[in-house]
Amino acid sequence: MKPADVVEFFDRLAAANPDPRGELQFINAYTLLVAVVLSAQATDASVNRATEPLFKIADTPTKMLKLGEKKLKEYVRTIGLYNTKAKNIIRLSQILIDQYGSEVPADRDILQTLPGVGRKTANVVLNIVFRHPTMAVDTHIFRVCNRTGLAPGSTPDKVEQKLEKVVPEDRKLNAHHWLILHGRYICKARKPDCPVCILRDLCRYKAKTMAEVDDANMVTPSPARPRQARTALRRARRRGK
Ligand code: SF4
Repeated sequence: MKPADVVEFFDRLAAANPDPRGELQFINAYTLLVAVVLSAQATDASVNRATEPLFKIADTPTKMLKLGEKKLKEYVRTIGLYNTKAKNIIRLSQILIDQYGSEVPADRDILQTLPGVGRKTANVVLNIVFRHPTMAVDTHIFRVCNRTGLAPGSTPDKVEQKLEKVVPEDRKLNAHHWLILHGRYICKARKPDCPVCILRDLCRYKAKTMAEVDDANMVTPSPARPRQARTALRRARRRGK
């Protein structure tokens, strides 16, 4: 994507949502870390449902250890991989107490040494809590960056490196929120909402979806959903008889 288009890309996202926020609920740096660990391969909504009562009684590493792994599992059992995640949360809580004075370190390398914390989790915590201009490339960002041509790459790490190069400095802090929200609600995996997308003319995705049926006489097959478009066309023709 041309640099001028990248600027326009983020100008539009910023105009549509000047103050983007993540959707995970948290109280402090520690509860955000726990929420992000729980969110791996789970929706933010499912994590929020579990953490709302959990954080009322365990919002620090000490309180989490006091709660214990068995009871923690009862709170998070609706979340995928909860056994492993609960173990990791107990272990990382102990490490935070023993080595970091119960504080969450503002350092990616240290964060990544904690159980269950990978680069993406560390980047989310650094960005949201410590306001570092990090790019936490999740499945949504990976898809949007590749489809649009903003920062194509075969792995999340490559996309992250590309984003760091191309995103304008003044957009770096919010870029990951804008891209996640765009991927979650507009540029969806199965059926992107290209007809209403504010980035449509900048986006290089070849299989953009189109408005399916506006009226019986204006039916345009969608390259991304040819079978559905053909069905819509047949129905429209029947209505026209
Ligand atoms: S035009 Fe379609 S594919 Fe491109 S960013 Fe928008 S929703 Fe995604």
